[in-house]
Amino acid sequence: MGKKVLITELTPFIEEEWKTLEKYATVRLAKGVTEDDLLTEVKEVDVILVVYTKITKRIMESAPRLKGIVRYGIGVDNVDVRAATEMGIYVANVPDYCIRTVAEYTFALLLALARKIILADRTVKSASWKIWTQQPAELMGVDLEGKVLGLIGMGNIGSAVAIRAKAFGMKVIAYDPYLEKDKAELLGVELVDLDALLKNSDFVTIHVPLTSETQGMIGEQELRKMKNTAYLINTSRGPIVKEDALYEALKNKWIAGAALDVYEKEPPERDNPLFKLDNTVLTPHIAWYTEEALKRLKRSVAEEAIRILNGMPPKNLVNKDVLFLSKRA
Ligand code: NAD
Repeated sequence: MGKKVLITELTPFIEEEWKTLEKYATVRLAKGVTEDDLLTEVKEVDVILVVYTKITKRIMESAPRLKGIVRYGIGVDNVDVRAATEMGIYVANVPDYCIRTVAEYTFALLLALARKIILADRTVKSASWKIWTQQPAELMGVDLEGKVLGLIGMGNIGSAVAIRAKAFGMKVIAYDPYLEKDKAELLGVELVDLDALLKNSDFVTIHVPLTSETQGMIGEQELRKMKNTAYLINTSRGPIVKEDALYEALKNKWIAGAALDVYEKEPPERDNPLFKLDNTVLTPHIAWYTEEALKRLKRSVAEEAIRILNGMPPKNLVNKDVLFLSKRA
């Protein structure tokens, strides 16, 4: 029987990898992505390529031929990795396609906050001429040089952000209990606990994966510890920050502002109260989204799928334990 690949949702400009993959298997786009849709969709599938859709244990149980799941991206929080491991299914991600891309975007958000770029743009376009003759207080920014940047999580993206912050003359501190001290030293970053990071940073930027430990790690208690002149940036995963607490913090000026690329629920509800605030910069999960990163992503996903179809483990295997368990024939 010929091999089959299922793509759960259409990523932009998918044709190139589709053609490459079709040399090895029949490639099909899922007709629906609810759990019930997928229970039938995956029946004869060897590899699933997934963006945001949840790949649950039930879905894997209905796919007796499934050898691997490849995630278009870094975070694998939408895949039940433990269930995959137990069933001998590879889970792969693409950890390196957008490291510098997201670091650059983090700086775009940071600068937008520090220099009120969005508000300035809106003011010019609303033809409010007083800005040309006065210096409106709401458009006054802050310098980055000499300021403290606090990284929550200093893996690939956090480290790339640290390097860029140093070039701006910022002092960089980080909270990452899993990081080797040498790595922080090498980048001239001081490792601190979360409490010290929140109290001392002028900008706090989050770069941790979404896990049971990081979910809700920034709530009211943490936001109240931040300086009221400080800014929060989140380009990692929405549920790491409790949005209702963040709304209170921004409305009541416990902190000066926030930039979010990710949300507790995506897409967010249309009446999300954060949309009504002026001290926020909000973007739709596009930190990774550049021409170059997209090309790297598509190429890597296709290569991983081909490896799995050829009976090899993927290069970026997330559930390494699967190698020690019996795999699906
Ligand atoms: P990474 O695995 O290289 O680094 C994550 C770091 O977080 C590691 O150093 C780890 O030790 C640390 N960490 C884990 N648990 C922690 C905890 N409880 N407290 C503090 N630190 C902890 O990942 P990365 O490539 O740097 O990516 C980080 C996250 O960014 C991804 O997991 C993904 O969710 C997100 N991301 C978002 C976009 C976007 O478009 N917005 C794009 C790519 C990645």
